Formats: sequence, structure tokens, C-alpha cells
Amino acid sequence: MALRTGEEYIASLRDDRVVYYAGERVKDVTTHPYISLRARENARQFGLGAKESPERLDLRTVLLPDGERVHRWALPCRTREDLLKFVEMEETMEGDAHGAMTAGLTALKILGRKMDAKFGTAYTPRIEKYADWFARQDLHGSFAMTDAKGDRSKSPSQQVDPDLWVRVVERRPDGIVISGAKTSVSSAPVCNELLVLPTHAMGPADKDWSVACAVPANAPGVTMICNYIGSPWGERHRFDRPVHFNDSTPDATVIFDKVFVPNDRVFMDGEFEYTREMIGYFSTFHRAGILVNEPRETKKLIGAAQLMARYNGIDGVGNIRNGIGEMVQTVQMLDVLRHTALSRVQFVEGVCVPDAVACNLAGLTVTSARPGFLTFLCELAGGPVLTAPSGLDLANPETSALVKKYYVGKEGVSGEDRLRLIKYIYDIAASDSAAYSVALGVTAAGSPSARRVAVARGFDVEACVNTVKQELQ
Ligand SMILES: Cc1cc2nc3c(=O)[nH]c(=O)nc-3n(C[C@H](O)[C@H](O)[C@H](O)COP(=O)(O)OP(=O)(O)OC[C@H]3O[C@@H](n4cnc5c(N)ncnc54)[C@H](O)[C@@H]3O)c2cc1C
Repeated sequence: MALRTGEEYIASLRDDRVVYYAGERVKDVTTHPYISLRARENARQFGLGAKESPERLDLRTVLLPDGERVHRWALPCRTREDLLKFVEMEETMEGDAHGAMTAGLTALKILGRKMDAKFGTAYTPRIEKYADWFARQDLHGSFAMTDAKGDRSKSPSQQVDPDLWVRVVERRPDGIVISGAKTSVSSAPVCNELLVLPTHAMGPADKDWSVACAVPANAPGVTMICNYIGSPWGERHRFDRPVHFNDSTPDATVIFDKVFVPNDRVFMDGEFEYTREMIGYFSTFHRAGILVNEPRETKKLIGAAQLMARYNGIDGVGNIRNGIGEMVQTVQMLDVLRHTALSRVQFVEGVCVPDAVACNLAGLTVTSARPGFLTFLCELAGGPVLTAPSGLDLANPETSALVKKYYVGKEGVSGEDRLRLIKYIYDIAASDSAAYSVALGVTAAGSPSARRVAVARGFDVEACVNTVKQELQ
């Protein structure tokens, strides 16, 4: 199959999937006023055609040996060059990033080989075949990893309700049947395929919960209950919400009620010994996305801070220069971590794996620094970050001149330019979307605790203790 057009992707979502939003069943996600916004955004990723420049085609797609062209996001990175291109592709993509789905497929490829070597299973050909089909069908995937969990101090097999973690409830000659729920699945209502992966390291009693498989979004027994997105401010308020005026982030709790998964879509069934390693590889690939997004986002914060200070005529003031200097330090640190992550690579089972410590350190750096940067930006913009008139008042002939007169900055900075920047700062630092981005930073792609564990893995604390003991002698 050739690369799909955006319209073909959208049409593929009209498949009777079971989605609920704000208390109602959604008949068609492609026409739903809010969920469809994300589908339309994702659609922009498709439709690469003959008219594309060779550079863009090379960045976004890969030519398979038989001449078929597929999206780069569907393939694992085999070489360092692949990895660099993947990161560059993610940097320039519209809509949902595909890093997480690719991370899942790539982790499965690595672990499939290991499981087959140890247990004589035959996961590798299944995973390869599924990944090849996924790429050639040009699908959009979501990864479904985070279980509902229940009591966090207990393992899946210790829960009062065994469905709190997705598990195998029946094994048949032709496949397995799974039940349970995954939460927070990004873009699930507008994906074609759900990749189910275990979310924690499992023990021997948790064999039935040690399951990885692929499920079509409209498979019988799959129900998605969407988060509440609310009504975006919309095009009319583009001046007031220049970045997020039309945002829509439909994530879902995905319930699997006795869903049959044929054998060729089952990639782990009971091999609890490999769950920890699978999560390790998945997280490293997934968190590599932080290297893409965060330097870019932090640079925007620096630009906004510097411009606001300049508009207000205070860019030379000491504490402001220090504040911006701290942000610059963080971006420089992220750049160094990015370089390390993409240079200190390992090759595991034919896959190029970025450096786990650098990927996780990048996440920790951003999580601790970002809230302070947003506070600093609000301080710079002053009260108007929350109280300034709307762009609609700027457009209204009755109030326009007043707004323009009283929102000027230093000489030469018009009221309109300064207000535009204030609204930009509002949108990225003081709005509901700003709070969303802070919460996203500490939760999505794993909590800071999970990142700290990954950073400490392999570090020899006892060697440090021994050094001190020697000095004490
Ligand atoms: C915007 C967004 C998008 C996301 N997209 C996806 C997605 O596409 N697919 C997907 O699968 N997931 C997704 N996630 C989920 C994300 O990966 C999880 O939120 C994250 O891994 C934390 O899991 P949790 O939400 O179940 O929190 P919990 O596990 O409840 O953790 C909450 C806190 O409790 C702590 N904690 C938990 N258990 C223990 C324990 N046993 N001992 C000590 N402390 C503990 C954690 O460290 C954390 O601080 C997304 C999350 C967000 C916010």
C-alpha cells in the first residue's frame, strides 16, 4: 500500500470504534467538535507525495528494499544515522509524535530476540511481520502501557480485582483473550492500532499480566473513555491564545473486555523475566523524545523572556539577565545531554539505542527547571499576563485606540506588539495549557522517580562508600 493521504487516515477512523466523551457515546470521532481537531492535526503528517522535496521525503520516509516507501516513524533505528534522522523528523512533525509507538515496537524487537533465544518462542517473526504490516499499511498507533493499577504497593496478582492490570484471561490454540484497562493512552480515540505493553517489572506470580500484543482500535470488546478536553478557545481567539487556540489532546482510558488477540499479534505472553528489560528499552526510546521537545520549548521561553524585558526597557537589569542566564544554562545542558544521548549509543539486537542516562537526565533537568522558568516569565510580563484586554478589544474600533495607547512599551514598541507578546506569554506560562505542560512534564514518559531509578541504574554507590572508607583510614 502506498503512503496514505490525510483524508485516507481520517476515513480509517470511521470504523465503529467505541469512544465515550463527556458522558456520551461518540458516533464518529472524525466529526466530533473536539476530538476531530486532533485527527485533523494528525492528518497533516500524511499525504507526502511526489511533489515533496527529496530532502523532506528522505527525512520523513524510508525506501524499503522492495521499493515501497514507508514513514520513518514506523521503523526502528538500525544505525546512528537512522537515530539522528528520527530525532530530526520528530522535531519537524505536525500532530502527535510517533516516538512512543516506535519505542514500543523497537523494544519488542529487541526483547523478542532475547525471549526466543531463551525460551524457544517464536516472537521475532511475529513482531517483524506485524511491524512490517504496520509500516506498509501506513497506520497511526498509540501505545497502551499504563495500567489502572489499583493499590500501588501491590503487584498485579495481589490486587483485589485482577482486571486492574491488563491480563490474559484465556489461552486458546489460535490466540489469547485479554481483559483489564490501560489509562492515559494518548490519541487512542484517533489511532488505528493500540500496542499493549506491560507497565511494570513483573514477578513469577504475575505471568498472566506479563502480556504484550497489538489490538485494532475498533476490536470487539475495546471501549475508550476520553479525558475531558473542553472547548478550545478557537480561531476567534487566536490573538489571545496564539499557541493553543485550537489544541485538542484526546487521551483515553482504554478498557479491554475479553478482547480476542490472534497469535500473530501476541508478542509476550507470560515471560515475566523480560518485563523489566522491555520497560527499560521502551523508556529510553520514549524519553529520547524529551531531547527533541524540551530544548525547543525552553528556547521559546528564553526568547519570550528576552523580548518582554526588551519591550519593557529593562533587558539590561541584573536580576533579569541572571534569570535569562539560568534558562540559557538549562538549554546548554540539554544540548550537551542530547549530544551524549545520540553519540554514546549502543547496538542491541541490531537496534541503535540512545544513551539511557542522558535521556533520563534530560527529563529530570526539565522537570525541575520548567516551573521556575514559567514563574519568571509571568513576573516579567507583570499583571497584564492575566488582566490585559483581549485581542477582540484591540480589533474593536471603540476600544482599539485606548488599548494601543496604554499597552505600549519603551519608545518604539507599539501597544499591539507588546500585547501580542503578553498573550503569547499568557498562553505558554499562565494558561490552562501551561499548567498542562507542567503536569505533562512530571507524568508523561514516566515520573521523576522512574527517571531517577533509570539514572542510578548501573551506578556503583558501594565504590563511593569504599573511597570514603579508604580516606578514613
Ligand atoms: C499527557 C499524558 C500522556 C500520556 N500518554 C500515555 C500513553 O500514550 N500511553 C501510556 O501508556 N501512558 C501514558 N501516560 C501515562 C504516564 O506514562 C503515567 O502517568 C506515568 O507512568 C505514571 O503512572 P500513573 O499515572 O499510573 O501514576 P502512578 O503510578 O499512580 O504514580 C503516581 C505517583 O506515585 C508514585 N508511585 C507509584 N507506585 C509507587 C510505588 N509502588 N512505590 C512508591 N511510589 C509509587 C509514582 O512515582 C508517582 O510519583 C501519559 C500521561 C500523561 C500525563
